[in-house]
Amino acid sequence: MKALNCPRGHEKMKLRKINKTVSFRGMEIPCKIEAYVCPECGLEGGTINSTGAIQQELAEVFRKRTGLLTGEEIKSLRKKRGLTQQELADRIKIGVASIKRWETGLIQSKSLDHALRLHLTGNRLNNDFSGNRPFSIARIKLVLATFEKKLGRTLLRKTDKMLYAAKYFWYADMLAFRDLGASMTGAGYAALPLGPQLNNYRDLVEEIRKTDETQAEPLTREELQIIRKIVKAFPEDRQIYAAAHREKIWQDKPVGAAIPYSEAKGLSEI
Ligand SMILES: [Zn+2]
Repeated sequence: MKALNCPRGHEKMKLRKINKTVSFRGMEIPCKIEAYVCPECGLEGGTINSTGAIQQELAEVFRKRTGLLTGEEIKSLRKKRGLTQQELADRIKIGVASIKRWETGLIQSKSLDHALRLHLTGNRLNNDFSGNRPFSIARIKLVLATFEKKLGRTLLRKTDKMLYAAKYFWYADMLAFRDLGASMTGAGYAALPLGPQLNNYRDLVEEIRKTDETQAEPLTREELQIIRKIVKAFPEDRQIYAAAHREKIWQDKPVGAAIPYSEAKGLSEI
């Protein structure tokens, strides 16, 4: 919208933020609106915010006041847990369009708000063994392929039981959890005599081979940095093997015990 001349014959109207009280779902909600105002007589011209932006702001205030998760909160909690909109939708068993709309201003029902809270804030235990990310074999394959590329060698060999690959995965997942708040693959790890190992690794090896990494959510810049850091610190299998065996969070576990992600801050070798 272009600046207009005041229809009362004054000068050009100027863009100002004005406070308005808008009636929304039976609630009077104050909101700031950008509008053209005549500096001389105060006449208000057209507003500049799109109706959508105003609706979005009103919906945020309404949700805050009625104890529902706001769009901002849904989005930030979802990201904290490392979930995509699609993954969150799948968990709640609703369409992804609903998540998109709730994050941008549509108001969710009380019962769906409850479901959202359950998936975004609850279930702490499970979380600690997947590092805030749903388990994804495609992601494991992608992390593997990225390590192999950066190391310039094959990590998962033909008759491999992931003796070394598991250590690279472990450091990648643990560091991502420690530094970014979510693991890369969602894998759980156990303390085995030969070091940290992925749960069910025997069954996983074949699955990993068969999986297409292009199906995975791409690695973020920060995740790639972590992989690069690990490759730089441990270019050889024996180095990462030895480092993992010096980690207290592996040493202090009984054989077969899970290594929770919350202990990632105790890593000492990187
Ligand atoms: Zn005027």
